[in-house]
Amino acid sequence: MLIVMRHGATADEVQKVVSVIEEMGYQATPMPGAQRTAVGLVGNDGRVDASRLEGLPGVQEVIHVSKPYKQVSREWRPEPTVVKLAGGVTVGGTEVVAMAGPCSLETERQVLESARVVKEAGAVILRGGAWKPRSSPYSFQGLGRPGLKLLAKAREETGLLICTEAMDPDGVGWVSEMADIVQIGARNMQNFSLLKVAGRCGKPILLKRGISATIVELLLSAEYLLAEGNYDVILCERGVRSFDTMTRNLFDLTAIPVVHKLSHLPIIADPSHGTGLRDKVIPMARAAIAAGADGIMVEVHPNPEDALSDGAQTLYPDQFTQLMREVRIIAEAIGRRVAEPAAVGA
Ligand code: PEP
Ligand code: MN
Repeated sequence: MLIVMRHGATADEVQKVVSVIEEMGYQATPMPGAQRTAVGLVGNDGRVDASRLEGLPGVQEVIHVSKPYKQVSREWRPEPTVVKLAGGVTVGGTEVVAMAGPCSLETERQVLESARVVKEAGAVILRGGAWKPRSSPYSFQGLGRPGLKLLAKAREETGLLICTEAMDPDGVGWVSEMADIVQIGARNMQNFSLLKVAGRCGKPILLKRGISATIVELLLSAEYLLAEGNYDVILCERGVRSFDTMTRNLFDLTAIPVVHKLSHLPIIADPSHGTGLRDKVIPMARAAIAAGADGIMVEVHPNPEDALSDGAQTLYPDQFTQLMREVRIIAEAIGRRVAEPAAVGA
């Protein structure tokens, strides 16, 4: 439920609404906005009797939020959420961001070389995994914590922001200490205890859609993060399992406008895992930007044929450079622009 205050309502009036909500046994979140302040009420399973709140001084209206993903919904917050990252990079505003890098962090040379090439092409965020969720326990599992050191070095050298995946609560602690964005991968989208930890880690979260998750399930998982007080959440469409084996996953382009309609959270597209095929990544990345995605995540490696994971879906540096040229044109055509890398290390 959302209690919308009148324009010009006083701080005391807002505070009174908060204390009545708390007396009723629920949690209150005041949300100052450009036009007016609203107070969110959560902690209820069913409908709350609003009569006590409607009559309080300064209250304009009480809105019952019908969606189960309450704080994530557009009813709760009509304006888009703009996640602010270090260096003035934003996700969810007019800018479109590109995050790129190798699937797995492998060696210092590979990480630094990847960082240089993706920055040169126009990415603002370096993304690579120190911990990899692999289907087989015998496949390369990632470098672990030493991988984070390599990312820190790449950031120092290039000024790129860092996004990397955490697979368990310890990982959330280590990743949130160093990275600018903590990624929760598809396989962990419904790891609810991990989501609670991530919701308290104090860093923006990139939440990927589960392999067979519906859009509503994705939004409900995001609700776990907001319910813990983390409002800096970026969603990611990365394709879902389908009956067709022509592509690794079925890249659900429609999810982008559907999520934008249902939620104020930004959503980016990952056509690398979405298609699994290098030559399909480029057209689907272009399509995602045209469909309104707030960014793209693309796997790029200096030598994809030597990659320790996901080589077949990984772009060569010159392919990524060309893709970024095209993405700039598409973004401009729909009134957006691509966030450009900071001058650090240039
Ligand atoms: C990844 O982003 O490297 C990854 C493992 O993707 P997903 O969780 O979407 O499978
Ligand atoms: Mn990968």
